[in-house]
Amino acid sequence: MLQQQIDLELREREDWALRRQKGIPNNRRLWVLACMDERLPVEQALGIRPGDAHVFRNAGGLVTDDAIRSAMLTTQFFGTKEIIVINHTECGMMSATADDLVAGLKAKGIDPDKVAIDPACPHLSLKKGRFGEWIRLFRDVDEACEEQVRLLRESPLIPDDVVITGYIWEVENNRLRRPHERLGEKVNTRKQMGGGS
Ligand SMILES: [Zn+2]
Repeated sequence: MLQQQIDLELREREDWALRRQKGIPNNRRLWVLACMDERLPVEQALGIRPGDAHVFRNAGGLVTDDAIRSAMLTTQFFGTKEIIVINHTECGMMSATADDLVAGLKAKGIDPDKVAIDPACPHLSLKKGRFGEWIRLFRDVDEACEEQVRLLRESPLIPDDVVITGYIWEVENNRLRRPHERLGEKVNTRKQMGGGS
């Protein structure tokens, strides 16, 4: 009967809107930490759909205080059991040094030692000279990815049974890979061909 179908749709709509109130986790019980870069299509990279995950994005896809805050909430209170970190090749966070950025801000008349890093929490401040450290630029995306997984793993705010994995998105060929596993380095080698001449 049509009435039953409509009732079901209304119930599904209510479940969607009131997910947090009803304690319904996201579909995959997944939290994703990814770089904000527009060349990284998170849903496409993971083969997931809207509703499947909580997605947190920042410059670099790095474990910052706000990333920990969000990861803590989703794993401790919203039923999330898995975390995936996605960093990517050609990331802007590898294009400069912290000193470059600090100098760039100073050239614009901004003193990094005198700004509030969180306008809503004025007491949250950095020690003098630590602004560059806070920006968190990196040189090697594979190492950065493994580092983010380690930082999450070691956080006492994230339950020990949460599965945490890191991947690299290759913007040059729109593919995901594991850190330190470049497929291009594996094919066409003597070892892969059986060690022949
Ligand atoms: Zn990036």
